[in-house]
Amino acid sequence: MKHKYLAKRYWEVKLPPLSKTNEMAKRYPDVIDLSVGDPDYPVDKKVIDDMYKDALAGHTKYTAFLGDEEFREEICKWYRDDFGCNYGIENVMVTAGGTHAMYLVMESILDEGDEIIVISPYYTYYEPQILLPRGRVVVYDTLAEDNFEIDLERFEKKISSRTKAVIVNSPNNPTGRVYKEETIKGLIELANKYDFLIIADDIYRTFNYTDRQKPICAFDPDNPRILTVYSFSKDFAMTGFRLGYIIGEKSIIECIRNVNEAVNFTINAMAQRAGIYAIRRRKEIQKEIHEEYRKRVFYAYERIQNFKNIKCSKPEGTFYLFADIRDTGLSSEEIWEKILDDAHVLVLPGIGFGQAGEGYIRIACTSDVEVLKEAFDRMEGVDIFK
Ligand code: PLP
Repeated sequence: MKHKYLAKRYWEVKLPPLSKTNEMAKRYPDVIDLSVGDPDYPVDKKVIDDMYKDALAGHTKYTAFLGDEEFREEICKWYRDDFGCNYGIENVMVTAGGTHAMYLVMESILDEGDEIIVISPYYTYYEPQILLPRGRVVVYDTLAEDNFEIDLERFEKKISSRTKAVIVNSPNNPTGRVYKEETIKGLIELANKYDFLIIADDIYRTFNYTDRQKPICAFDPDNPRILTVYSFSKDFAMTGFRLGYIIGEKSIIECIRNVNEAVNFTINAMAQRAGIYAIRRRKEIQKEIHEEYRKRVFYAYERIQNFKNIKCSKPEGTFYLFADIRDTGLSSEEIWEKILDDAHVLVLPGIGFGQAGEGYIRIACTSDVEVLKEAFDRMEGVDIFK
């Protein structure tokens, strides 16, 4: 919006499609909303109970700037026990979720004009996260024909003397891909060769339905070029807690801490206590969540097989289906509107995730199978899918 009191760089803001969904969801009273990635799963009750006890016991104050020490110790233990990574608490900075974490990373590493490579289709908010701290977005488009896998030779052509980092999100939102191990190894080799950072956005780690379970940091735990961004939003269904962290080399973490002192000072003390108990109960919590969402996403996948003009490959991760609608001859935004008007089901258009997402729609399987059944029954009736 153009306004004399607003910074001119915000006068023309390109809003991502996600920001229109609230309005669209109100178009009909019976809309089934499969647009936003907010898991409907309840937060583990024991985690809430233990957090409550800690709150009564006085964990209601500012915490250390890097985050509650016990929480950071628990995070380090988790990485040691499950992934064989030996981090110290000085390598961990607690954040208010993955969005805040990514912004802090960008603010801390970017000089004006530095470049961040994003792998398209990509999570919409990477763009403003890079642009706000005056960085440049360099888009590497994956191809539907390659099942959205990264072609390292083509990727290498995107690297320049200004490349500061690449963001790698696997399991991937929106495509649901889990990158191959050779791909991850190849990216690490390129990062070493050209000296840039790999920012692993690991926020869908629980939702991995392949045998490729290793997080990127575990490929090379001592590599100072790997930064991990994590969130409790999806993996523990704790979106409202706004809790996450960054793991990385000590001096980078220190700078991030300094930046955050002016942004958020410290993170919600009670949410951090909940984080401790969530990690301690992760085996139970994540097993349940994994199984439930696996069931849903595979149910949706099976249903789509019977639709005309829409197809998708076998899910590998996340709770999103990225479905190919190119045979309809319509754009992803046109199909988005059509599904809403004809079936009262709200999805997201692939174009909202970058040019490489055009010709696709993203269906978030964040409702239980009964709701998904109703949604797919309705979509099955849309003329173009019959
Ligand atoms: N990264 C990816 C790929 C996401 O899909 C999301 C949320 O949907 C986030 C980061 C940020 O999530 P949060 O800020 O809730 O941790």
